[in-house]
Amino acid sequence: MVRRWRGGRLVIASHNPGKLREIADLLAPFEAEAVSASSLGLPEPEETGTTFVENAALKARAAAQGAGLPALADDSGLSVAALGGAPGIYSARWAGPGKDFGAAMAKVEQELTACGSPDRHAAFICALTLAWPDGAQAAFEGRVEGRLVWPPRGARGFGYDPMFVPEGHDITFGEMEPAAKHAISHRADAFEKLVAAVFNRDS
Ligand code: IMP
Repeated sequence: MVRRWRGGRLVIASHNPGKLREIADLLAPFEAEAVSASSLGLPEPEETGTTFVENAALKARAAAQGAGLPALADDSGLSVAALGGAPGIYSARWAGPGKDFGAAMAKVEQELTACGSPDRHAAFICALTLAWPDGAQAAFEGRVEGRLVWPPRGARGFGYDPMFVPEGHDITFGEMEPAAKHAISHRADAFEKLVAAVFNRDS
């Protein structure tokens, strides 16, 4: 049985200002006062997990224990079928310290060409974990299926968006209006599951 939200402060275990804003907006309708891990001076734990869910859980648990408050963490990335799920949990790291996603997308394309598979199927995946200081936790995974195109198209979004065309569409996330992307994204899917299980009073 998933524990329900009873109001109060919720630590967002991310040091990424974009993610913090997005999560605080999503939580605005609920009785959750979002506070960032960085504003509480909490350190960022090393992401040593081997799955999105493990990494989200270790970030959420570290923040919940450090702050003595419930904490929410997310971990996300691009999983390419023909590459055995890569870059996966290493999606951010493929862009290197300079966060060069042009180079990261080129690497995906090179590896796809090198592996010789015509399969261009990929998915964005998002794991969300809510952890309480007493050790209780709940995890939710969202995904959006699609295919990879080359060359990249569009200047909207971030990361691998310009090479990802979601299923049922013919434009990339990089070309799509932000609201349209947010309606179908892996993060929206995971949030919907989190809200239904933990935050909604009437579900
Ligand atoms: P995290 O901050 O460790 O979860 O890293 C997530 C990484 O996955 C980002 O840096 C992006 O490279 C990639 N990623 C996750 N979500 C998206 C998305 O919605 N669009 C494009 N790239 C994404």
